[in-house]
Amino acid sequence: MNEAQIVIAKKLLDGSKKIVIVGHKNPDGDAVGSTSALSLFLKSQGHDTQVIVPNDFPDFLKWMPASEDILIYNQNKAQADDLINNADIICTLDFNSFTRVGDMQDALTNATADYIMIDHHQSPDDYAVLTYSDTAMGSTCEMVFHFIEAMGEAEHISEDIATNIYTGIMTDTGSFRFASTTAATHNVIAHLKNTGIKHHLIHEHVYDSSSPERLKLLGVALNNMQIFPEYRTAFISLSQKELDENKFQKGDTEGFVNYALSVKGIIFAAIFIEDRKNNIVKISLRSKGDFNVNLVSREHFHGGGHNNAAGGKSDESLAKTISYFISILPHYKDQLLAHA
Ligand code: 5GP
Ligand code: MN
Repeated sequence: MNEAQIVIAKKLLDGSKKIVIVGHKNPDGDAVGSTSALSLFLKSQGHDTQVIVPNDFPDFLKWMPASEDILIYNQNKAQADDLINNADIICTLDFNSFTRVGDMQDALTNATADYIMIDHHQSPDDYAVLTYSDTAMGSTCEMVFHFIEAMGEAEHISEDIATNIYTGIMTDTGSFRFASTTAATHNVIAHLKNTGIKHHLIHEHVYDSSSPERLKLLGVALNNMQIFPEYRTAFISLSQKELDENKFQKGDTEGFVNYALSVKGIIFAAIFIEDRKNNIVKISLRSKGDFNVNLVSREHFHGGGHNNAAGGKSDESLAKTISYFISILPHYKDQLLAHA
């Protein structure tokens, strides 16, 4: 944060305020971690805070400190609308546009509170009094650390706050392996570690908590993988029938797309997940190096994200979505083959 931003933040947070903190739809580790960490921090500063997310989050995040206090909008709409309408400040974390909050979009658009945005996605919308946006950051959680640091309170970060921040940095950097992980990231981690966090337990909670059904579903997904070495591309698909047969639970497919990216020589990976209830196919795209999946998703799949990780959807059938995906690969051949 620059000096001007710090002045604005301090002014907004002067006195005790009613603060709503919002994460994006289908909250991930970074969304739950950043909102919960900021909420715990602002509470410790004497503010009245409430985290609200559009819909439920996966069980593998439900152990996170203060995650039990999160209000789920589509389960508590009246209460959530009331909090949003009466808030002095609304902090939006880990997303760049109200289109990312599903059914909460109207409530946020009509709210009269002052907005604070903390986010690392490209092209942030201009709705906040304070827009702390940094696309070079690997996670919003890392930015929440810098926000607290800018408020002069880094030395007072509690173990619970640190556990939340660690979790979001870990999940958004692929456990500190993506190019977005910097020396500064590791310095933040060192600071967090000194608060007493048990990082080995955090990894276990998130990555070693699979149900047997999830691993069977992974088996199905891997069997469905198709590889196009000539385009350095691989993708996985899962039909609604396959999800049902393996007792799909929210969050079960998290990380599956990375198996496609782990094939030697592959730099572009996708997963297509049929969602009959919403009549869509949910799509995740991943890449290595300069191949920009944010642009692919924006152009073809009504979505977006980051250069190397993006999401989107298709309103066509699973089969049509897959044929369409295969049909666009030749357009990207030069870019795909340019990768070192
Ligand atoms: P995932 O594939 O894990 O759902 O998402 C990867 C990245 O893309 C995340 O940073 C997420 O915020 C972003 N993302 C996922 N779905 C969408 C979407 O529908 N629209 C936009 N703009 N970004 C998305
Ligand atoms: Mn994030």
